[in-house]
Amino acid sequence: MDPINVYPFPALVGQSELKLALLLALINPAIGGVLLEGPYGVGKTTAVRALLDLMPTVSRAVCHHGCTPASDVICLACRERLARGESLVLTEPMRLIELPLNARLEDVVGGMNERVALEQRRVLLEPGVLSIAHGNVLYIDEVNLLDPAVVDAILDAAAQGRTFVRRGAMVRLFPSQFVLIGSMNPEEGRLRPQILDRFGLRVWTPPLTTGAERLAATRHARMYRADPIAFRARFAAELAELAQSVDRARAALPEIQPSEEAEVLAVEVVSALQIPSHRAEIVLLEAARAYAALHARASAEPDDVTRIAPLVLRQRRSAAIDAEAERVVAEDAAIRSALDQARSLV
Ligand SMILES: [Zn+2]
Repeated sequence: MDPINVYPFPALVGQSELKLALLLALINPAIGGVLLEGPYGVGKTTAVRALLDLMPTVSRAVCHHGCTPASDVICLACRERLARGESLVLTEPMRLIELPLNARLEDVVGGMNERVALEQRRVLLEPGVLSIAHGNVLYIDEVNLLDPAVVDAILDAAAQGRTFVRRGAMVRLFPSQFVLIGSMNPEEGRLRPQILDRFGLRVWTPPLTTGAERLAATRHARMYRADPIAFRARFAAELAELAQSVDRARAALPEIQPSEEAEVLAVEVVSALQIPSHRAEIVLLEAARAYAALHARASAEPDDVTRIAPLVLRQRRSAAIDAEAERVVAEDAAIRSALDQARSLV
């Protein structure tokens, strides 16, 4: 996307939780991505695209198989690159890959190159969106309206960090580790709990409520439309500073660990809420590390956990699982009591 089409991130009015969640996801991919929920027209997609100005620079393999000079198996194209003295690794900003709503399973997972099949009578398995998204940000607008088979493929890849492309007996493996961002309008339908659980952070993006905020948002939008270059220039310094903080936080993250108090707090709050998924406390601590990194602190403390807990913990409780757990406990009690009675007879 041409930078002129990117709305400056600091110019987004309000929505502090939305902005924070997107930054944390860039800083620590282990958080497992972000789900943005809210009505249409509150700027979810604009905010995601605004990340283009803040994308960290990463080193990555030039080929979809992820060959490096140290790989056990190096693909033919990469062997030729090495022979020509070219590097197998390139350094560039992370990209934003947007998944269209009408994406088919083979577009997403990859499949057979039909031109090669027809012209050369051989099967060439090609990567899909999931491997193109490797090392990048994958954005799915209206994730709740996507074909369930496509959603499952994306979740599998996100969980395993790789995709399999199969055609009959042929299988190829492509690395696919990405930052997943989904957005949805809950009026259009809910997400399955299994999908909901995959998103590390859940952000509710309400419409701006105060007159002052709405006025500021309208003015910004008008100025941007009238002269995008001048509008971007107004925010250039703030944008550069924010991009630097993201880079610094990413560099510092490996050294930042949660304190024991932060770990205990995370586990206690998750169990007090009776949240079934163990992903909750893992994500809570990963998000706390990212939050501490963003604020240039040496470790993640209880205050960091407290600050990001609502983003991590909302929508993780399950009435169905609570009811099932109660039923199992009651059933086990009945089994034990029947056993006691029966044993008294033998
Ligand atoms: Zn290769």
